[in-house]
Amino acid sequence: MRDDGNGEHGPGSPDGTFELWDLRVEVESSERPMVCNHPEGSWFELRGENLSFPDGQTFPLYPLAALLPLLPAKQRDTHPADWMTTDAVIACPDPHCGGRFRIRRVGRSTFNHADVTVVPLP
Ligand SMILES: [Zn+2]
Repeated sequence: MRDDGNGEHGPGSPDGTFELWDLRVEVESSERPMVCNHPEGSWFELRGENLSFPDGQTFPLYPLAALLPLLPAKQRDTHPADWMTTDAVIACPDPHCGGRFRIRRVGRSTFNHADVTVVPLP
């Protein structure tokens, strides 16, 4: 697909704004028991670069580390045939844990290039 710089797969609009998906990651169970401290139904959200959690809820470090590389890609528009578009369930990195993490695109937010980087637009 040709990228003219203004399409949905381009870097953004001429005024320097661009959109990202807001994500919600929710814990699901599987046939195996949970090992880590991520109860079924617990969740966190990502908007721009900011993670947010419900008041008082924690989330274990190792599953979060496994999820982090995928989240920026899920925030962006992806091709319909791209596996990043279709695949949304990530397994817990603990091989004994039944935890699964479903990534949902729950909304869109608009950002301004100049608000998120000091590198100028070309
Ligand atoms: Zn786990």
